[in-house]
Amino acid sequence: MAAQWFDLVFDIPANQAFSYRADEKGEAAVGKRAMAPFGNRGRDSLGYIIAERDAPPEGLSESAIKPVRRVVDADPLFDERDIDLARWLAAYYLCGIGQAVAAMIPSGRRMVSFGSLFGDDDIAAAALELSVEQQSALDAIIGSGEWGVGGKSPPSLRLCEPPLPPSAGDTPATPPSITPCSLLPTPHSPLPSPPMLYLYGITGSGKTEVFLRAAESMLKDGKSVIYLVPEIALTHQMAELIGKRFGQSAAMLHSGMSPGARLAEWSRIRRGQAPIVVGPRSAVFAPVRNLGMIIIDEEHDGSYKSGNTPRYHARQTAIRRCSVEGAKLVMGSATPSAEAWKLMAEGTIKRLNLSLRLAGGSLPDIKPVSLENAEGCLSAELKEEIRLTAQMKRQTILFLNRRGFAHFYHCPSCGYEQTCRRCSVSLTWHKSKGKALCHYCGYWEPPPVACPRCGSLEAGYRGFGTEMIEEEVRRTFPDLRVRRADADAVGKKGQLEETLSMFRAGMVDVLLGTQMVAKGLNFPGVRLVGVILADTGLHLPDFRAAERTFSLIVQVAGRAGRYFPDGKVIVQTLRMGDPVITRSCAVDVAGFFNAELAQRKALQFPPYTRLIRMSIRGKDASRADAAIKRLAGIAVPLMPPDADMLGPAECPIGIINGNHRRQLILRGRSMGTLHGAARVMLERYEQGRDSRVYLEVDVDPVSLL
Ligand code: ADP
Ligand code: ZN
Ligand code: ZN
Repeated sequence: MAAQWFDLVFDIPANQAFSYRADEKGEAAVGKRAMAPFGNRGRDSLGYIIAERDAPPEGLSESAIKPVRRVVDADPLFDERDIDLARWLAAYYLCGIGQAVAAMIPSGRRMVSFGSLFGDDDIAAAALELSVEQQSALDAIIGSGEWGVGGKSPPSLRLCEPPLPPSAGDTPATPPSITPCSLLPTPHSPLPSPPMLYLYGITGSGKTEVFLRAAESMLKDGKSVIYLVPEIALTHQMAELIGKRFGQSAAMLHSGMSPGARLAEWSRIRRGQAPIVVGPRSAVFAPVRNLGMIIIDEEHDGSYKSGNTPRYHARQTAIRRCSVEGAKLVMGSATPSAEAWKLMAEGTIKRLNLSLRLAGGSLPDIKPVSLENAEGCLSAELKEEIRLTAQMKRQTILFLNRRGFAHFYHCPSCGYEQTCRRCSVSLTWHKSKGKALCHYCGYWEPPPVACPRCGSLEAGYRGFGTEMIEEEVRRTFPDLRVRRADADAVGKKGQLEETLSMFRAGMVDVLLGTQMVAKGLNFPGVRLVGVILADTGLHLPDFRAAERTFSLIVQVAGRAGRYFPDGKVIVQTLRMGDPVITRSCAVDVAGFFNAELAQRKALQFPPYTRLIRMSIRGKDASRADAAIKRLAGIAVPLMPPDADMLGPAECPIGIINGNHRRQLILRGRSMGTLHGAARVMLERYEQGRDSRVYLEVDVDPVSLL
């Protein structure tokens, strides 16, 4: 007989499930979604059925429990394995279990078949012969067993640390008409880390080909593969490539698809019809059967971390899935994250090197150029190279770092910049307050009248705008075809695709772009890459500023010289001689990380510590202030001995959308103890919370803006 009682979770910040009676048609089952009365007015909400039970929860009479109104899905969308992953997400990222499930499962209500993405007729086996390095990397990936090389047991891994069980703390008041059934159990025993390998190869060294062959070999063994790529542009390029190689065995899951199409792909994957799945961050939840391998291409990419609750990181989630499901994790990048670099150095992640460009190119000649005496934003050298490139009928990419919004203090005579004494991050100028502020610890200084180091009166606050740059390029080169590809210019759907394919077809001479053009794009005709101002990102008040700047420059530079050995890169800077700029121009990844990791260690930032960021936002500044102060007061006695608290302080972007933002950061040696303190904090904060401000929790934040 079918079960009569079900537990549902909803998309709310509560670690709680709620009991319902079966619907009349008897369609309810674990893994399906259902509409059920929920909330203060008992209106219907979408819930996820995560358990069935033989009897109503103890102490509750049958009549007190409401029935499920309507079951949405004909077939289950998720199973025990997915629920376990959701529990882990909720415990690790300190969010509600229902929020975790909602993030995993496509939101579409009706499946919309969008035809098969790829045809089997198009399948073309790889014609390339692998290089020696590629072959040995592939052998290492295929050969890595339970634990890689030499059967050595995995060292304990910080990234994989099991969280403490969640508490009931963040549970909102239960609506009177609804029956809460149970606090969810959290069965998280420590797990061994999975085999982890890293294809560390210069840009254009053929990492993709190795990933594809490793995937083919997995599929041949009857296992499934999830292939993660950064958001937007690269997804399409990869989808095409994967479609050609795997035909209908390939599925795609990305945010640009309609919810119905996503749902259809999801079901196809669940039925085992698509053993290889390609997609951005959220594809890490793909319900493949018999997972053999997760690939994370461009592992350093910021889009692998979710910007909404639950703020999960695809890498962390992939580690969890691989260890639970006995799969291996294969990552790759020319510019690994600091976390990955450290783990490679320690041997926890096995590094596989690719050092050559294989398509006829070689690493371009990268030259730092001072922008100090240029009139506008194009140096004489960059102008000359653009002209030369156009004469050769080749193409130019100009890269603008959009994140350089901040107004920072700079001295043109001696290079002095105003930084925080305690945190070693740039101070940000707040005109309205008349203060240069540190957004980590709240430290501030008045604006200097003259440069504090050399006394120059020309020092001051500076910044850059993108339209201004476009204008200058058009003015300087009226006969060149210029297109801009950034969030503003490609607002309309498909416009980025159009711009990129026009560029690929040679119909555009100069492509002006932001981060979007830095990611893995492969344009044969590009000779010149110009970075307009390399240091903008360095001024951001974030301890990852140097890492991001370094990796961005190396990645953008990597767009040149992929097919011809005459690639040229001009990196404009106001910080000639700055080690980050110098090392990125030399593509000295090891040199950069040696210095950077030493600095992180000295200042006690990740990967040497772990962080949990708690931020408050609210329309009323004084309420936001009061709330963050209260939260900080709660935190002080809870801080474990190996942990401390940064802040409370205003967020670097102090107001967004009329919301005042405040933050504090818990910093500790182990995520286990931090999690423990954070849970009690949230619990106490909840009692007597001001309902007009919102609290957001970010575990392992990648951005502190
Ligand atoms: P990466 O991902 O490392 O930046 P790609 O995978 O984009 O590099 O490869 C760059 C180019 O090299 C591609 O055009 C690819 O077809 C080519 N390539 C890869 N492997 C080989 C090989 N073994 N022989 C020749 N060309 C290759
Ligand atoms: Zn000076
Ligand atoms: Zn500071």
